[in-house]
Amino acid sequence: MITLIKNALASIDQKQYAKYDFVIKDGKILKILPHGSLLPDADKVIDASGQLLAPGFSNAHTHLPMSMFRGAGEDLSLENWLNDTMYPLEDRLYSEAVYLSSLISIIEMVKSGTTSIIDMYYFCADIFRAVKESGIRAILSRSVVGDKEQASVRIKESEELREMCLGEPLISFGNSLHAEYSCPFETIEQVTGIAAENGEPLIIHLSETKNENDGCRSRYNGLSPTQVFMKAGADKTKLIAAHGVWLDDTDMELLRGKTVVACPQSNLKLGSGIADVPRMLEHGINVALGTDGAASNNNLDMLLETRFLTLLSKRTDPLRMKGATALKIARAGGTKAMGVNAGRLEEGAEADLILIDISSERYQPLLNLDSHIVYSSRSDDVTMTMVAGNILMSERRILFADEKEIRARFDECARNIYQGE
Ligand SMILES: [Zn+2]
Repeated sequence: MITLIKNALASIDQKQYAKYDFVIKDGKILKILPHGSLLPDADKVIDASGQLLAPGFSNAHTHLPMSMFRGAGEDLSLENWLNDTMYPLEDRLYSEAVYLSSLISIIEMVKSGTTSIIDMYYFCADIFRAVKESGIRAILSRSVVGDKEQASVRIKESEELREMCLGEPLISFGNSLHAEYSCPFETIEQVTGIAAENGEPLIIHLSETKNENDGCRSRYNGLSPTQVFMKAGADKTKLIAAHGVWLDDTDMELLRGKTVVACPQSNLKLGSGIADVPRMLEHGINVALGTDGAASNNNLDMLLETRFLTLLSKRTDPLRMKGATALKIARAGGTKAMGVNAGRLEEGAEADLILIDISSERYQPLLNLDSHIVYSSRSDDVTMTMVAGNILMSERRILFADEKEIRARFDECARNIYQGE
């Protein structure tokens, strides 16, 4: 199957913008040619005139079903938000609600240019179903919490998820521990050991709040959450740690070569603080960007997240985080953690691509489009989202689901959950 994307404005190697024709074959970028070159016969041709072709975003920390809880717990600290609002609501979740909430999240993501995700939650069979139907690229993981007995049930579910992911071209499996504060050390050690033994990702929440760090140091005789995970063997895993707001230099050095997913909007909304991403980069950490769930953000828009990352990281020095660095983090940080060659316009890379309509005033003059994407774009400007060469959204229309029908069924689930019908 060959798809041509013709006459697209693009920047190759982050240099100048020019018009190119892209040849997509078997899910990958086969050729990038100057517009007007001789092209092979194609099964599909996309005319991208007046549009910018860019790598899609990799949303590296998500909880897909939490769209159901958007707006349900506002202006609370992480502890109160989790204990007083989220946990009681999660007790009311059921299969169909998880499936539809996941689809609603994916629709929002795809419409704002996200092409891959790293998810952590439970009800994984229902999440898997939604992800598979959509065609988005994903790592899925079953979040393990609790003591030995509780953890054993959850580890079994995690193993079932691993089975589901076998042979899937776009969905892979990750192990997950919710956080240091929600798991005793023997559980942390057990799941970390499984991830290390199998060479699989280990997805965790790490140093999200000051309380978490303080609590950990008193539980573990002065050790930070990072030190606890490393003591349990996380240094031998493909660690993907969300937040990292309260990491110190010792922690960051231990995390060299691992992935930390910054979630600026979620951290701001829960009053958790601001992660020092430029410092993480100095320590050789692979930084990725994530929205977190829709209940703590409350949007799943990676364009907006990129803007927050850039502006917050500058603090008093505009050079601390350049827009182009933030874009690289948002596009390729997550895919690097996934072990996928995507997030860049390069021959041989996965065709996880988006088109952005740059005809509106906010992109004029057409001088520095990377900068326009970071500082003035809107996610509504994304007109096409492609994953592995398959088009998931075209001209703002989702192709993998009937949006109206999904919305109606989601609304019914919301009534069941909130009104207990
Ligand atoms: Zn999270």
